[in-house]
Amino acid sequence: MIITVDDLKKTYAGRVPTPALRGVSFEVASGEFIAVMGRSGSGKSTLLHQLGLLDVPTSGRVVIDGIDVLALTESGKARFRLHSLGYVFQEYALITELTALENVSLPARTLGAGRAGRERAAELLDLVGLQGRHDHYPSEMSGGEQQRVAVARALINRPKIVFADEPTANLDSASAKMVLELFRRLNRDLGQTIVMVTHEPDDRQYVNRVIWLKDGLIERIEAAA
Ligand code: ADP
Repeated sequence: MIITVDDLKKTYAGRVPTPALRGVSFEVASGEFIAVMGRSGSGKSTLLHQLGLLDVPTSGRVVIDGIDVLALTESGKARFRLHSLGYVFQEYALITELTALENVSLPARTLGAGRAGRERAAELLDLVGLQGRHDHYPSEMSGGEQQRVAVARALINRPKIVFADEPTANLDSASAKMVLELFRRLNRDLGQTIVMVTHEPDDRQYVNRVIWLKDGLIERIEAAA
């Protein structure tokens, strides 16, 4: 299993503590494309943030590729995120002052892979269908194109898992379809493991399994038709 989640709980502190995950357990096999669904407030983003090491759960265990990731130090987690995980967010989160190529190669530069990183970034931009757009700035691209740059960036360090949080929520339906088809292609052709939060039930057609959350618990796990 590439991911094992055991009795994961998260309560947000505050004047009124909010339990967002109340004991979630499941496993993801390497090469799966998983969707996390459920109504607003069911805990989808919270789950993705805990698995992606972007937040610290209240209790439970998360093992990714054999590593008990919650036991890592802060710098160990940062290294693990950079080397082993990729992220795609609803808002693209590109750096506006950098071109598409520079945005995609940035995480590789952080790892010290200068020229090789740029070459791989160029290949990935071609892979996501942005031939001829390498030197364009985010402001010169549509939302769908920016999100495809973000997908290329997520892949630059060959992550074990790509986490995507509502990656199509800001896109028109044609661009959304293109991004989902891209994920499906990355999953089928390259064996990329993907965990994607979505509130769009139609996205079921793209994935292997759906984890349905309700009030911070798994309501059911649905295999693809
Ligand atoms: P979903 O992604 O399914 O809409 P979330 O994971 O965002 O659900 O939220 C689950 C619950 O946790 C909700 O009750 C939400 O209000 C609460 N919550 C989410 N983020 C925070 C936060 N940073 N601080 C306090 N409460 C939060």
